[in-house]
Amino acid sequence: MRILPKMYYLCFECGKKVDDEYTTTKVRCPYCGGKILYKDRRTVNKIKAR
Ligand SMILES: [Zn+2]
Repeated sequence: MRILPKMYYLCFECGKKVDDEYTTTKVRCPYCGGKILYKDRRTVNKIKAR
């Protein structure tokens, strides 16, 4: 089983991580509605230590 690194975007306005799913239809931050998103190329392994 292979785990691909999840692609995230970062909102330029609020700095939150935006899931890639949100950017498939429209590029918009679900938190603040910002339209400027940029890709976060770092691996995201420490979001939730649940
Ligand atoms: Zn935002």
